Amino acid sequence: MTSKGGKESDALARAFGALVEGLTFYDLANVAVAEMRVKVAFEELGRRKKEQLGRLEGVAGSGAKAAAVMPGIYPINVVSKVECYVCGFAADTKAMPNTCPNCGAARYAFEKEIALTKAWEIAAEAGRKLAILFGESAAHSGGRTKAVLEELARDEEGQAVQAARQLDELRT
Ligand SMILES: [Zn+2]
Repeated sequence: MTSKGGKESDALARAFGALVEGLTFYDLANVAVAEMRVKVAFEELGRRKKEQLGRLEGVAGSGAKAAAVMPGIYPINVVSKVECYVCGFAADTKAMPNTCPNCGAARYAFEKEIALTKAWEIAAEAGRKLAILFGESAAHSGGRTKAVLEELARDEEGQAVQAARQLDELRT
């Protein structure tokens, strides 16, 4: 593999990682929170990540996706575990129990409170960072992959602006 090829596959691994990380974060956040408006926001944000991932897979194939390197942009640790507020029993969000196996509390004892403003703050910040990351990945890529990465960068800029607007509305 030439050095340009190496750089291109690194760039792709980072781009895939950013989307996989975003999708993972929003999916977990959607399960962990109870408040309907916050759930809906996370669901919609996750749906966009899934759609972007599909676009990148369309040009780069799933082999590159397997090499995904997560950039650590999304606060996954905030949503990957849930804790029973009655007894402190911790569980993986992916396997959130219907009743606490330790104290018998109902499922809602595990639900997290994440404010809607926090959800849009995360989305705005991630959007700005992903726009830069995709721009850099595009610079190391060519052909249709480059075009899609540039498109994704513009997409993220738009999503960051939209998230910031949602935040403004919530704060006024
Ligand atoms: Zn418990």
